[in-house]
Amino acid sequence: MTHRWACLIGQPVAHSLSPTLHNAAFAALGMDAHYDARDVAPEDLAESVAAFRQLDCLGANVTAPHKQAVLALMDELSDEVVAIGALNTIVNQSGRLMGANTDARGLARWMRQVGIDPAGRPVLVLGAGGAARATVWALAELGASYIRVLNRTADHAEALIHALRPRLSSTELSWGRLEEAAEPTSTQWRVIVNATSLGHHGEAPVVHPGCYSRECVAIELAYNPPETGFMVAARRAGARAENGLGMLLHQAALAFERWTGQVAPMEAYAAALTERVAGR
Ligand code: NAP
Repeated sequence: MTHRWACLIGQPVAHSLSPTLHNAAFAALGMDAHYDARDVAPEDLAESVAAFRQLDCLGANVTAPHKQAVLALMDELSDEVVAIGALNTIVNQSGRLMGANTDARGLARWMRQVGIDPAGRPVLVLGAGGAARATVWALAELGASYIRVLNRTADHAEALIHALRPRLSSTELSWGRLEEAAEPTSTQWRVIVNATSLGHHGEAPVVHPGCYSRECVAIELAYNPPETGFMVAARRAGARAENGLGMLLHQAALAFERWTGQVAPMEAYAAALTERVAGR
């Protein structure tokens, strides 16, 4: 049987957890396959992607700064990629490249698994970048009745809403400036997601304690550090708080399942992650 491969492309990629996760999954299932991370400059993107059509290639993951530029190199795009305008996974279907976004479906699958149900309820999303777009798609997929997006640059939030509104017709969508989160509110948010990159840099958006309640869940999309100021403040205000590790594991699992047709061994992912963190 042919040795198969998959990889991550981006710039930089050195600190990615994806090789650790996927190589552990290949080993756990006894598959003759490997996964590596490739530092690819924008001018080399087309050549790198062309190699994914080789029959021994399962597919790839794509990270910054290529998540949008790579769309033009695909033969087919999934519905959520068209809605979100970015992909993170490429599946090689016998030489045809299919673009998918497992960030959105990964977040939705993790939320279902851990019992965070926003169906029929209002939710707040802080940030309007790629992860925020995937988050809005996931929350609408889970049936949120109203999604308000707040961002430092209000124009980016407005653009997000305009891009997604035609495809998310059963959810009310609105936008505003990030400072609004620091003000008191009468809305009982079911979920508040920090999709800004502040957590990644040891900072936090300011959220008024009155935005939280016992039945509110604060989700920080960053997972490193595992506990952020956003999570600490939410817990102090009485809410449940979670980081982005669940989303990370489920987006990886969904990509693995698309490439191999096999259920991803979640326990192998968790063990590999624990080992990697311990080895740091
Ligand atoms: P991105 O596209 O670069 O977007 C960054 C967002 O953060 C924008 O809304 C930006 O606002 C905002 N921002 C940046 N600096 C800020 C500041 N100083 N004050 C206020 N807002 C600021 O990044 P992304 O890919 O969406 O990632 C966002 C976060 O999600 C990161 O922490 C990333 O690690 C995490 N993430 C996690 C997963 C997972 O699997 N758990 C997957 C993807 C991403 P402007 O529009 O005003 O610039």
